[in-house]
Amino acid sequence: MKYQEYPLERTFLAIKPDGVQRKLVGEIIRRFETKGFTLVGLKILNVSRELAEQHYDVHKERPFFAGLVEFITSGPVVAMVWEGEGVVSSARKIIGATNPLAAEPGTIRGDFGINIGRNLIHGSDAIETAQREIALWFKEEEIANWEPTLMAWTRE
Ligand code: UDP
Repeated sequence: MKYQEYPLERTFLAIKPDGVQRKLVGEIIRRFETKGFTLVGLKILNVSRELAEQHYDVHKERPFFAGLVEFITSGPVVAMVWEGEGVVSSARKIIGATNPLAAEPGTIRGDFGINIGRNLIHGSDAIETAQREIALWFKEEEIANWEPTLMAWTRE
């Protein structure tokens, strides 16, 4: 199959304020780039309380919700859209378990974190969630549609 014939799959990833403050942006982006995924959306922003609350809406009844919103709005976040076959579940594997102490070495959280409230990066947990989150964080015109020429060397 030609690249254009594969169903388009995208995920939303966000490097949280701890990842940005700890200068891990380049290291984290490198892991998804070298895996073979395509970066189609990228920006750094200070997250409003409204956006944080919408993004974590599913957790609004949880005891950690207030602290989570506080943390996500405490410094800049790097928001990204990545594209590729199987990118949603593959990115979750690259990120690792929610609790960094339980995350495998070799994953982002396993290599760089120790605390669940400072786990460096968010990744959409399903294709439908990704669609909702991309629409929440990005305008249509902020996403670049492009096909890397390298594609022929990362897939049949
Ligand atoms: N979180 C937390 N304490 C908890 C559980 C979750 O601070 O006991 C935070 C943590 O930053 C996590 C986020 O809430 O990444 C969302 O939780 P979820 O279960 O969706 O984990 P994820 O999908 O990020 O692995």
